[in-house]
Amino acid sequence: AAKRAGKGRYSLFNDALLGDVQERMLLEQQLRECLRQDQLEVWFQPILDVRTGEVAMFEALARWPLEGGYCSPARFIPVAEETGLINELGAAVARKVIAALPALLALDARHVVNVNLSPRQLMSRHLVEQMCSLVDGAGLSRDSIHFELTESALASNADFAKQQLDALAAAGFHLHLDDFGTGYSSLHRLQSLPFSTLKLDRSFVVMLGQGDARIARSIISLAEQLGLQVIAEGIETLEQQERLLDLGCHLIQGYLHAKPMPLPDLLEWLARRG
Ligand code: C2E
Ligand code: MG
Ligand code: MG
Ligand code: MG
Repeated sequence: AAKRAGKGRYSLFNDALLGDVQERMLLEQQLRECLRQDQLEVWFQPILDVRTGEVAMFEALARWPLEGGYCSPARFIPVAEETGLINELGAAVARKVIAALPALLALDARHVVNVNLSPRQLMSRHLVEQMCSLVDGAGLSRDSIHFELTESALASNADFAKQQLDALAAAGFHLHLDDFGTGYSSLHRLQSLPFSTLKLDRSFVVMLGQGDARIARSIISLAEQLGLQVIAEGIETLEQQERLLDLGCHLIQGYLHAKPMPLPDLLEWLARRG
């Protein structure tokens, strides 16, 4: 119908659009099925304190096995977010993180897992109660889990977002501001929200490796002024790490040290390090 409706030059556009919509609908159906069959996986990437060489914490990252490979979170998280499946997905991630925590805490009682929360999850009225009951129900301490939120989670409905963040913090969860510097956030607001940590986005680490330290230096010094810790993400080279250390940032996450791994591989990785 789209083909006949317009002139030739529009039909191509319409077909492409239709293709996009169909692809999204298929992805949505497949994701729904994945969640129904409990096939979503959670992998873990270590974050090191390179001053001591110790693992400081882990980031939990959702992995969706699809058609013999893995579908990228960059593709399926937006679909989950738009369709509302993100709340179910987020609950599955939280359950899996909580199931993994005893093995990690047995190795070191200070271990912490960082869990990503999307904007729509933050807007869920059940979020705080749900997370508390999952963590408490497993007999875990709430400070074993930190939450990562991007600036986009703060963009709409600012008052409710602040209320939710305050409630999470009051419940004992530490909060990290993810991909810091890539979105729009006013420093005034940042200072009024209960974040303990800024995550320096990978794009600034790349710039740093190319000799441009301006943004990385500014963000690290801003964090220092506000009394926040900084985790740098996406470190792939020793040179990047050394420059970060020079700027005073010592919490390092990236392929240089380890890629995200399933729990058994992570336990092996930790055992090898001794
Ligand atoms: P993010 O939270 O900023 O996570 C860091 C991303 O950087 C991960 O991508 C990680 O695999 C990747 N990464 C880590 N070190 C390096 C490195 O040295 N080089 C490069 N090139 N990349 C590195 P991933 O796993 O593909 O996830 C992408 C995004 O999807 C995440 O970005 C997060 O926003 C979202 N996401 C992933 N899992 C979840 C989840 O369980 N819930 C929610 N709401 N979002 C999630
Ligand atoms: Mg993150
Ligand atoms: Mg990040
Ligand atoms: Mg990122």
